[in-house]
Amino acid sequence: MAHCLSCEKKAISSHPQLCADHFDEFFVQKVKDTIESYNLFSHQDRICVAVSGGKDSLALLDVLVRLKYNVEGLFIHEGISNYREASEEDLDIFIKERNIPVRKVTFLDEAGFTLDAAMETKKFHSCTLCGTLRRYLLNKYAQEYDVIATGHNLDDESQTVLINLARGNTNLFLRQGVSTHANEHFVRKVKPFSFLTEKQILTYIVLRKVRVDFAECPYARLSYRAQVRDLLNKYEQDHPGTKENVLQSYLAFHSTVERPEDEPEIQTCEQCGQAAGEKVCKACQLIKQVHNVMIQE
Ligand SMILES: [Zn+2]
Ligand SMILES: [Zn+2]
Repeated sequence: MAHCLSCEKKAISSHPQLCADHFDEFFVQKVKDTIESYNLFSHQDRICVAVSGGKDSLALLDVLVRLKYNVEGLFIHEGISNYREASEEDLDIFIKERNIPVRKVTFLDEAGFTLDAAMETKKFHSCTLCGTLRRYLLNKYAQEYDVIATGHNLDDESQTVLINLARGNTNLFLRQGVSTHANEHFVRKVKPFSFLTEKQILTYIVLRKVRVDFAECPYARLSYRAQVRDLLNKYEQDHPGTKENVLQSYLAFHSTVERPEDEPEIQTCEQCGQAAGEKVCKACQLIKQVHNVMIQE
């Protein structure tokens, strides 16, 4: 590979073409710029990082600790055997080395079943069930923080723009962004890695010698997202900057649009007390359905 654009050393990354030291500087600065220009949080805020044990969330914890933010992790164990154990092991090593407090929450304790057990009934869609419970637990345990930070990167975000656009998900489309709006029911969610690619995060993880497990969720059915991902990767290769252009165009458009007023009135769930669109929230409804099916079997 060619030499670094900022010094005489050998480049270890091609986009941008930098040596290890200059890449590290670039990466940390990009996160800092995103946090500051979008006012994601301050050094006074208590920040909760949603950790999966995968590369994105561990890299995020690592950078935020280096930037001296007041950060804690929340790890949600959904109960998928032969999958979650490896990432939990990596997480344990990581947090011990850096002395970061991480709270662990499991589907089993919170809902009374593992995702594996619920999937054995063959009555539920894995990503809907898992996603609903994750969001529910994240909101539940994040109440005591000022902000939730997730490891979503430029690849995720540019894919989501195109997916929502192509599928006509206008409501979801209008809600995307580097930061969600705060309201009384939900803690604000922010994405400090919005302008860093998956590849750049991978390079950072390698440079920082963080051990991560790369196993994919065995229930993942990513076909649509995978198609969009492949398409964007091809465009990016032929026309560098495509992913950033997609996201920047979206954000420029988004900033000129009024937020939709048709939000359902937010109520309080009769069962758990969290915000809900109906009398009983989606998570409580789903948990009850899973229990009903499991009792019948
Ligand atoms: Zn250099
Ligand atoms: Zn509820």
